[in-house]
Amino acid sequence: MYDVLVVGGGAAGMMAAAAAAEKGASVALIEKNEKLGKKIYITGKGRCNLTNASDLEEYFSQYIVSNPKFLYSALYGFTNTDMMDFMERYGTPVKTERGNRVFPVSDHASDVTKAIHKCLEERNVKIFLNTEVKRLLVQDSEVAGVSVNTSHGSEEIKAKKVIIATGGLSYSTTGSTGDGYRFAADLGHDVTELRPSLVPLTVKEDYIKKLQGLSLKNVTLSFYKEDKKVYSGFGEMLFTHFGISGPLVLSASAVLTKKYRELNGLKGEIDLKSALSYEELDNRLLRDFKGNENKDFFNVAGGLLPGKLRPVMEELFPEGKGKKVNEITREDRRRFIELLKHFPLTVTGNTGFKEAVITQGGVNVKEIDPSTMESKKIKGLYFAGEVLDVDALTGGFNLQIAFSTGVLSGISAGESLR
Ligand SMILES: Cc1cc2nc3c(=O)[nH]c(=O)nc-3n(C[C@H](O)[C@H](O)[C@H](O)COP(=O)(O)OP(=O)(O)OC[C@H]3O[C@@H](n4cnc5c(N)ncnc54)[C@H](O)[C@@H]3O)c2cc1C
Repeated sequence: MYDVLVVGGGAAGMMAAAAAAEKGASVALIEKNEKLGKKIYITGKGRCNLTNASDLEEYFSQYIVSNPKFLYSALYGFTNTDMMDFMERYGTPVKTERGNRVFPVSDHASDVTKAIHKCLEERNVKIFLNTEVKRLLVQDSEVAGVSVNTSHGSEEIKAKKVIIATGGLSYSTTGSTGDGYRFAADLGHDVTELRPSLVPLTVKEDYIKKLQGLSLKNVTLSFYKEDKKVYSGFGEMLFTHFGISGPLVLSASAVLTKKYRELNGLKGEIDLKSALSYEELDNRLLRDFKGNENKDFFNVAGGLLPGKLRPVMEELFPEGKGKKVNEITREDRRRFIELLKHFPLTVTGNTGFKEAVITQGGVNVKEIDPSTMESKKIKGLYFAGEVLDVDALTGGFNLQIAFSTGVLSGISAGESLR
């Protein structure tokens, strides 16, 4: 019999186990993979953007997409600074980069897992690998342990408190197969609709495919629903064989997924020349035209475009094709600039959980006590991390949410035994 049993050895589960053990509880951490923190290895392109050094108030006002208020106690209880200190204490110094993104100095995501692992060892947490929790044991609305499958068959592990930290549905090869949603639902918890977020978008227009590999910097991407602007952001994006991706697109996907059940049909447009007004662009064109009146229009105007965009612009602006500069009218210029400022595309959907950074939706936070992470339905049962209906934009916020809710659930479970 353990005091606290944590299901899922990812970011949230590892920190939950460490926190419960610090409170003097006997703790077991159960992970179905052959190692802990499998998803952490692929975060931040292998460098792990483990938190964000922005002021916590900005987390709530700008970066958390779902249920920011619910996360108040967790994030103020174990802050971004606490996480950075924790890393330093356990031998993984960190550095802060552009956008306040925090990474290990080594640029190795594995060092983040190593640091937490060191803490788990120091605090004598019993780790079960290759052990899959199949079911929770509950008696009289109070948790009693879990039933697991191992290579030796199935068995029951008894515990006074159980913390579910099984993650979401994205990148299921890392072990996040949504088991926690099932455990919660089986016990009568409401699980809100689960949808991929921070995910590339698929696009209808064939010309987008021709732009595959092109990345754009300093552009403004906007989306419209029935002519009303519903999202606008500035930054970097890229074209892929099915549509659009990159930081700007992932952030847009989180906001749009939150707003709309159906992304199909949303109109998008890229301002390829954000820094220049319509008039400035027209002046630039007229300047480029000077002395080149007998040259091919696209040879001259093409200077405004990355090479890959030129054939697509020729397709979208047939008026200019084969024309000399001196044949281009004021109206032609207006149309061309219109395309540069409002390069059009139509969203058909997203690429799904396999390419999503995070799951939107999860265990309904109305049924969880925000000051402890304990279920309001089953005594002694706690939830932490992505399994909850919480998510944020990219930048280290999602891992910080996992760490903070993990720590709060661990402290609460550990302290409740005293
Ligand atoms: C490609 C990619 C890049 C990312 N980059 C970043 C980044 O740089 N910064 C950032 O903040 N966020 C990033 N994220 C998001 C971040 O990884 C998640 O928010 C975070 O890992 C969630 O932590 P978690 O502990 O809740 O879940 P997970 O990390 O998914 O951990 C859940 C664990 O539970 C285990 N498990 C599941 N079911 C069972 C079961 N039945 N029995 C036993 N064990 C079980 C799983 O095997 C897994 O190890 C990225 C995500 C992806 C996919």
